[in-house]
Amino acid sequence: MAEESQKVKILTTWLSGCSGCHLALADINEALIDVMELADFEHSPVLMDVKYDEIPEVNVALVEGGIRNEENHEMALKVREKADFVIAYGTCAVYGGIQGLGNLSTNEELLTEAYINCPSNINPEGILPSEEVPPFESRMRPLSDVIDVDLNLPGCPPRSDIVAQAVMSLLKGEPLELPTTNLCEV
Ligand code: SF4
Repeated sequence: MAEESQKVKILTTWLSGCSGCHLALADINEALIDVMELADFEHSPVLMDVKYDEIPEVNVALVEGGIRNEENHEMALKVREKADFVIAYGTCAVYGGIQGLGNLSTNEELLTEAYINCPSNINPEGILPSEEVPPFESRMRPLSDVIDVDLNLPGCPPRSDIVAQAVMSLLKGEPLELPTTNLCEV
């Protein structure tokens, strides 16, 4: 994928997800050493101290989570602009995943449940956040609804060995064959 003697630049980021897919990435353990021989991580919310919305130009982007709010949407567009190859990483990014269950309720119902009815809340005036919380879009959507995706890598989270295999195949420019069953870590 990269030119001779040039390491591939990788970024990871998350949209509407739970960060479990990023934990699966950390779980590739010693395979990370093989990855690091061929690639440099340029940006990642778990591997590096970076500003979330400052996306560098990279060869490969792994994107966890789907599109639930305006910030997710803007970030997806930014990643597509900066990355040559975009991987929808995990079931939320590929299909909407467990976050998609929210599509069974209206946005108003979700906000009321989260900020007013939730037993752990103390919110007697029933105030809903109007600032500093990105506005919901109409529903949870997979990444491919908003940008072109080059590879779908489902799993909740994806199995670490499959993540390692997929990333190494990409870095080496080898064909990638994903299993058709048992893609999840647990
Ligand atoms: Fe979390 Fe599963 Fe979604 Fe990954 S696919 S972000 S592990 S809920």
